[in-house]
Amino acid sequence: MSLAFISHSDVGRHDNGWNHPEHVGRIRAITRAMRYHPELFMSLEHVEGRHATVDELALAHDRGYIERVRAASAAGGARFDADTVASEGSWDAATAAAGSVIEAVERSLDGRNLRSFVAVRPPGHHALRDQAMGFCLFGSVAIGALWARSRGVARVLIVDWDVHHGNGTQAIVEQDAGIHFVSMHQWPWYPGSGAAEDRGPHGNVWNVPMPPGLPAARYRDAIMAAVDAATDGWTPGLVLISAGFDSLAGDPLGGFTLELDDVRDLTRLLVERAERWCGGRVVSALEGGYEPDRLGEAVIAHLDALR
Ligand SMILES: [Zn+2]
Repeated sequence: MSLAFISHSDVGRHDNGWNHPEHVGRIRAITRAMRYHPELFMSLEHVEGRHATVDELALAHDRGYIERVRAASAAGGARFDADTVASEGSWDAATAAAGSVIEAVERSLDGRNLRSFVAVRPPGHHALRDQAMGFCLFGSVAIGALWARSRGVARVLIVDWDVHHGNGTQAIVEQDAGIHFVSMHQWPWYPGSGAAEDRGPHGNVWNVPMPPGLPAARYRDAIMAAVDAATDGWTPGLVLISAGFDSLAGDPLGGFTLELDDVRDLTRLLVERAERWCGGRVVSALEGGYEPDRLGEAVIAHLDALR
């Protein structure tokens, strides 16, 4: 059963400009890094994702907001906040990001590919139900989780190791007790939410706020302790990872200290647990990561451990 590498030709069409940290060079850095790892490259099943439908986006977002994003792109672009814009291609890119996560979930559930990595942009974990935020337009991982729930998966675990709190994912999924959400993030830091006391209305949120600059093992141990707490007596049928590689040492937008071996370790620990819980079903999707060459190498380490 091969690991799927899922992307979409439209994900490069979300254009923030090259002066913005979230640019198409991030995805190109991943494909560039693969050239130096031909054995890994050949072992992957390369899959072109698909666009999410409006009904699928509406699992997580208000229809009025969905229409605002579509209209903004159709009009040639719009600015949603200081950091978050839509360009002409953003609707196609953001719907491809969400749809490619759904494609990965579908493949995991029907057994075609138990595990996938979804290389898409824009990222999604800051997007709220009715508002773009923090480079994000649609909550792709939240949508993937809710899509799995709609297909009968009783318990979905989301693990978010991006250096920023997955506030949008939390806001969307915390209403569903069938989803447990674990987010480790730098604190205090953008977007300012994600206190440990914030457990959501059903107690299904595990926030792990952490200071910058600690030894990497502290981050790994903290997030795995939260994963174990979130799954104590509660066995997920699917694991989703919001894989933000801005938690690596040296990222311009964060102060965590993870190295490539830590990415490998974290991935292996989650895969081992998924093997016990649900036959190894893991869908990982790209969130942040703003030093492109590091991002490329981190994705290689992540893929190698997902295999
Ligand atoms: Zn981030």
